[in-house]
Amino acid sequence: MYFIANWKMFGGLSTLNSLKKVIKFLKIFKKSKNIKIIYCPPSTLIRPMFKKVINSKIQIGAQNCHESITYGASTGSINPMMLKNVGAKYVILGHSENRESGETDKLINSKIKAVIKSGLKVIFCIGETIGQKRKKITKKTLSKQISIGLQNVKRRKNIVIAYEPVWSIGTGVIPKPDDLINTINFIKKKVRNIKVLYGGSVNPKNINKLKLIKNIDGFLIGGASQDPKKFIDIIKKTYN
Ligand code: PEP
Repeated sequence: MYFIANWKMFGGLSTLNSLKKVIKFLKIFKKSKNIKIIYCPPSTLIRPMFKKVINSKIQIGAQNCHESITYGASTGSINPMMLKNVGAKYVILGHSENRESGETDKLINSKIKAVIKSGLKVIFCIGETIGQKRKKITKKTLSKQISIGLQNVKRRKNIVIAYEPVWSIGTGVIPKPDDLINTINFIKKKVRNIKVLYGGSVNPKNINKLKLIKNIDGFLIGGASQDPKKFIDIIKKTYN
C-alpha cells in the first residue's frame, strides 16, 4: 500500500518538525515493511525534508516539474533532473489543480516521459470533474487522460496512477463504494500492472469505508497529510 502526502502550497522549514512523529511511528509500526510512504512537499522543502527523513521509511516526491530534462531558459521552472539532484524519487503529474490552470494531456505526457528518463517515478493523477460525472462521461474522460498521458511511455513499472475525482478534492465528499470499485477496476483493465491509488478528501473518519475497497493500492492524501496525527491515524486504521 502507498500513502502519499501532498502538501500542496503549504509549509515552511518549521513545519518539518511534524515529521518526527511520523518517523517515530513508522519505526514501531509492525506493518511498515509492506507500505510505501512518500511525502511531496513544495519544492522549497524538498532538500531539507530529504535530510530529515534520511534513515527512515519516508521517500520524497515533488508536486510537478518541467517537461525538459536539460537546463534551459524557463524562468520559474524546475526540471526532473534538478529534483533528482536534491533527493526527490517521485513526481506528481497531472494533478487537477494544474490541469485547471491549463496543463493539457499532451504536456502531461511529455512530463511523464521526462520524469521516467530522469530515473524518477511518476504519480500520475487522473479524474473527472463534477460536470463530466453528471454527463456520465467519467470513463470516457479517464480513457482520454490515460491514453494521451501514457502515449509511447515505456518503463510503466515506474508509474503509479492516482484516481482523484476533481469533485472530491478538498470537499469532504468521497465516491460511493460501488462507483469507486467500478472505476478502479476500469482503470486497472485499461493499464494492466500499474498500481492504482485513490485520492480525494481521505481522512481518519472515512478511511474505515475506503479501506474496504480491496482493489485500491493506496491513497494520495492532501489536506489531512499536513497533520501528522491524522496521517498516522489513516495508516493505522487502514490495517485495523
Ligand atoms: C490532493 O490534492 O491530491 C488531495 C487528494 O487533496 P485532499 O486530500 O485535500 O482532498
